[in-house]
Amino acid sequence: MSETFPIFGIDLGTTNSAIARVDDRNHIEVLPNQEGDRLTPSAVLFEGESLYVGNVAAEASGHEGGDVVRDVKRFIGDEHWLWEHNDIFYTPSDIHAIILKKLAQDAEQYTSIPVKDAVISVPAYFNDLQRKATLEAASLAGIRVHRLINEPTAAALAYGYDLPDEDGLQLVVDLGGGTFDVTLLQKNGTTLDIIASNGHARLGGKDWDDRLIHYFSVDFVTHYGVDPLDDPIAYQQLQQRTRSTKHALSRRNKSFLSLSHAGFQHQLQIDRETFESLGKPLLDQCKALCDLVLEDANTSWAALQNVFLVGGATRMPSIQAWITNAWGKPGISTVNPDEAVVKGAALEAARIANTQHNPTPHAQAEPSPYRLKGSVQARDITNHTLGIVVLDSLGRSFVDTLLPRHTSLPASTQHVYYTAYDNQVSVTIQLVEGESKLPEECVEIGSCEITGLPPRPAGQRVELHLGYDLNGALSVELYDTGSNTSQRVDLQRGSHRTATETQWMKRQLQSVRVQ
Ligand code: AMP
Repeated sequence: MSETFPIFGIDLGTTNSAIARVDDRNHIEVLPNQEGDRLTPSAVLFEGESLYVGNVAAEASGHEGGDVVRDVKRFIGDEHWLWEHNDIFYTPSDIHAIILKKLAQDAEQYTSIPVKDAVISVPAYFNDLQRKATLEAASLAGIRVHRLINEPTAAALAYGYDLPDEDGLQLVVDLGGGTFDVTLLQKNGTTLDIIASNGHARLGGKDWDDRLIHYFSVDFVTHYGVDPLDDPIAYQQLQQRTRSTKHALSRRNKSFLSLSHAGFQHQLQIDRETFESLGKPLLDQCKALCDLVLEDANTSWAALQNVFLVGGATRMPSIQAWITNAWGKPGISTVNPDEAVVKGAALEAARIANTQHNPTPHAQAEPSPYRLKGSVQARDITNHTLGIVVLDSLGRSFVDTLLPRHTSLPASTQHVYYTAYDNQVSVTIQLVEGESKLPEECVEIGSCEITGLPPRPAGQRVELHLGYDLNGALSVELYDTGSNTSQRVDLQRGSHRTATETQWMKRQLQSVRVQ
């Protein structure tokens, strides 16, 4: 009997989360939670000393006496965002850990396999802080993360599993509850490379809800002079009803939104045209981001082999009409748009388990339980430019690019710098991510200090070798040509050693890609 390797795929979504695995019959199985649903709302209800996650929380309303927190993914990585309940403060990672625990416990109950290992999906444009906060949530939940997979990569893997022979350019359009993510990938036989991606952390189905809520509240105020949005309970009720109205408008040409508040009962008919005109600026933002991705890759809609729709909000007819107009045929949604990401994460988990099971082609390992049809290796890119903070000839700090945005991973590079001061015996290497040359506009993703250089006059040549693997592991090696010695430091993205002043003077840049 083949042994099942317990690495699960997890989609930690803004609105809903899900967990899946590839079973030993090679099926991708999205695992139901204890309530029997394959999607678990990413909502937590704090009630006295008790915590409830999922549907119970999503459906609870303010007047039930509890506090409901949702859409926390929008704040992940924000060190200032805190949720307070009973004088306890929760970070976004704490809330995500609570959601992950519920997913893990329910999956464990269903499969009788402990959930200790996972591949977790994150939006492609998540920066280091957001990725680190996601890893922290997993660690708090007792889950070891084998890889953070970019959501569009996961979705393309899931679609690729269904369409194994379709090579060419693939566009993944992912409109979820809170985020929009558009990614262009190239599938070539067994490899899948991200070529370009862009997105917005605050653009999703929720923004369409907000426009509708605002429209209703203005109408309510016009009729009765009171604003339901001033009352948290009415607001919460309106949020839930708006979502149902929006969903109904995906199927019907008109729907209704009603609310009783401050003694007034109000019902408003909304037709699809009105809803679509409210959402037009949002749709335009999606279109602009999509065009940017195509421009970045110097391609066009006509060159796309497949356009895959991912995320619940791509069910909106306005999104589907946009794709049909732009591409000339309807977007592909053969994989349930709510499940494409988690299924892809499960496929990647299975691939990793497979590799661990069979570490080298020559090893005498048992045959792997995973015989993935057309198993595809997904390769990622850097989503932001990665650079190092150095000094210019006037002693001002600036960011020198080491790996440009959209470099395929794993990657390595080598650059030459010169020491800035006489008798300089140490250098601080501060790696940052961002599109600006100003260090303060970038996000630091790791730093280390290399000491022990022999004291000499300024201007000594040193070579910096940087390696960056798929899991965010960075290796920094400094080769001192004068003394013919080198030192290497391995860093995980987000790890730091005490950084002092950056002490490098850059006089010459030689960029040699040694990949
Ligand atoms: P996700 O984050 O992928 O689970 O997407 C959730 C978002 O999709 C929420 O904003 C939902 O309201 C939205 N959504 C789900 N189904 C529909 C539908 N039939 N029509 C419009 N929006 C939908």
